[in-house]
Amino acid sequence: MAASPPVQKASTHVPSLDEVADVLSAGLGKNFADVSASVVDCPDLTKKPFMLVSEGLGGSPRLADVGGPAFLTPTPQLDKKFTFAQIAKLAELPGAFMIGAGAGPWEHVGCNSEMMNNVILDCDGGVVRNNAHIAKVNPENDGCILEKLTVAEFNLMGNFLVSEGKCCKVLEVKAGKRTGEENFVSCMRKTLQSFYQEKIVALGGVFLIEKGKAKLHIMPDFSKEPLTTPKQVGDWLNFYDMSAPLVCVGELVSHDPGMDLRVEHFHCFSEHGEGGHYHWDITPDDVQYRGYFVLADYIYRVDQPPVITDLAR
Ligand SMILES: [Zn+2]
Repeated sequence: MAASPPVQKASTHVPSLDEVADVLSAGLGKNFADVSASVVDCPDLTKKPFMLVSEGLGGSPRLADVGGPAFLTPTPQLDKKFTFAQIAKLAELPGAFMIGAGAGPWEHVGCNSEMMNNVILDCDGGVVRNNAHIAKVNPENDGCILEKLTVAEFNLMGNFLVSEGKCCKVLEVKAGKRTGEENFVSCMRKTLQSFYQEKIVALGGVFLIEKGKAKLHIMPDFSKEPLTTPKQVGDWLNFYDMSAPLVCVGELVSHDPGMDLRVEHFHCFSEHGEGGHYHWDITPDDVQYRGYFVLADYIYRVDQPPVITDLAR
């Protein structure tokens, strides 16, 4: 077992949910015609369409930002392997519920892949429930293959909400009929950034693309050539138009206090074989988003790469 990776811990600013709902409502209203943001009791997120392994999102909520794109480019660092149990422990919450976006375990999957975390662990790191998925490129036809992730491991990078999975009050955010250029996640993040400035407001959770289509990418197997330019990364990635309903898990941070955070990262899965990294919707008139989020009290930066890169973000 390799030495435990370094961890930095940052406290966040945690405003009231009511205040955040008001802020988001105003900000999203500039980018979507139909918007509502309110504070509600979390619905049972184990039910369809969400299919999370825990009913709620709450109880000691924190974010874990692990590794990053600098482990992927210019050439992949294939030794960057992590377990969910290791990250839960480093985030000071063994026995955690975890959801979010990362890269799949290449040795187990057989190639590089997108990973949608959705797991509950016990305090010894054992898996209590696992509905995590990976999405990989079918080498025969370039299509998407969505599979359950049967090991509690990932590689290279991960951006997770880590909590006790308890029922609690959550932010319910609905947005439909996009009128602006921002995607749902960037719009929320930039809204929080502009209101809270250098204060760090961090949230994680799940949103559903209920109607419409979205542009997602799936990383194909590792590039044989080094990836050194945005164009090379764009040419290497496989992009897809995927259909609702898509369940998207991940987190966002309004302000990076110099920890090389991935400030927004959501991955999607579905019951119809589609999944991957969320970019934006491509059906502005028809799109409908509905999300549930909690505010994180801390951010744990695990194994921050020594080099900062804008590639593959
Ligand atoms: Zn991603």
